[in-house]
Amino acid sequence: MTTPTTSSVRTRFAPSPTGYLHLGGARTALFAWAFARHHQGVFVLRIEDTDVARSTPQAVQAILDGMAWLGMQPDEGPFYQMQRMDRYREVIARMLAEGSAYHCYSSPEEVEAMREKARAAGLKPRYDGTWRPEEGKTLPPIPQGRKPVVRFRTPQEGVTRWDDMIKGPISFDNHELDDLIIARPDGTPTYNFCVVVDDWDMQITHVLRGDDHVNNTPRQINILRALGATVPEYGHLPMILGPDGEKLSKRHGAVSVMEYDTDGYLPDAMINYLARLGWSHGDDEIFSREQMVEWFDTRNLTKSAAQWDPKKLNWVNAHYIKQCSNEALAEYVAPRIVKLGGDPQAVALPAVMDLLKDRAETLNQLAEGAMLFCAPHAPADPDLMAAHIDDAARALLAEFADKAKALPEWTPESVDGLIKDMLADHGVKMPKLAIPLRIVVTGRKQTPSISAVLAILGRECVLERLAAA
Ligand code: GLU
Repeated sequence: MTTPTTSSVRTRFAPSPTGYLHLGGARTALFAWAFARHHQGVFVLRIEDTDVARSTPQAVQAILDGMAWLGMQPDEGPFYQMQRMDRYREVIARMLAEGSAYHCYSSPEEVEAMREKARAAGLKPRYDGTWRPEEGKTLPPIPQGRKPVVRFRTPQEGVTRWDDMIKGPISFDNHELDDLIIARPDGTPTYNFCVVVDDWDMQITHVLRGDDHVNNTPRQINILRALGATVPEYGHLPMILGPDGEKLSKRHGAVSVMEYDTDGYLPDAMINYLARLGWSHGDDEIFSREQMVEWFDTRNLTKSAAQWDPKKLNWVNAHYIKQCSNEALAEYVAPRIVKLGGDPQAVALPAVMDLLKDRAETLNQLAEGAMLFCAPHAPADPDLMAAHIDDAARALLAEFADKAKALPEWTPESVDGLIKDMLADHGVKMPKLAIPLRIVVTGRKQTPSISAVLAILGRECVLERLAAA
């Protein structure tokens, strides 16, 4: 592999818009993005929408949304293959004129028969070259009214090889490659051909993509060579397996990256986690986007399949939540509180984030925790009251209310001091006062630290609820 000179690097992410941006796609995009950023190169987004039956504008939008959410903005594009049809036709015409492509009039049935014949002879099923022009060969008469396909004249000799950035040297014998159809009878170009013309026109220097494309690579290299184009470096990423060792699929839960947004994951955590699916920098598990870009090197991409591990993702997300400022968390969490029917304005949300963030794995857990403060107050259910609020508890609560009124300031520390003083005065343990306080003030038996909760609720609210009970 040649070491790219800084700033000449151009990578691309080329999704087919037939569904969401799924995790595998997002990881491919991330590596192509990080490689370009590392070399101060250009990251191109190309939408491969020629499969009109399966491509949808919604899927295009989902891809753009997913990339924006993850913060991977393309430097160029999105380019749409459907808008480049004239260019593909132009290149096909040029190849026909130069003799690197030819018209083939064999019908699909005839081609199937050729394949069958090869199979029967124990060979690879293939087109037999009936219409391939050769020196001194007379081609059959053109069948009346039949529209031809255009085939690429694949070299029959030699080997096509490349030094894969991830898998190492790979080679294919050219005689194993069929004369690929590059245009259909209606003139529309086929998949591999569009990829070639685009990689050429977009001057892509490094192609990082899933290893389901390994078999396409020799075909693409041969067409690029026939066009006199520079062949990019290729790196084929092994797939991502689910926790059960099977290929990651919908069965493994969320597959669209946007579902992770819905489920309360931070984009930075997602990037950090995705980066570790097939790439490493020593033993580092937590690193920023900037560090990843600085360290990114295809030599540290792993040859073996990566395994999706939701527990580890939660661990990484929890870390990013802890690192995040209370103000930023409050902003992320506010709309989630609204979704749960709460009012994020009802409380100083950053203080709530501070209280909850050490234990939360997702933003949704933070929102659920914040509902203690943001949901309309529901008095405790009578059974809970009956079980815990006896006369002794009532007396303690009344005394607490009196003393609370007199506290010079209302902070977690002062409330904590008051609670501890009362416990000492009465010679009782924490639960004797904390549980009745929780039940009467919050309606729940369990909450985070009671003094912090009371401080956040505010003195007025606490006294009101105590009086009401
Ligand atoms: N459009 C292809 C896909 O979504 C990727 C093609 C490529 O990267 O060369 O799998």
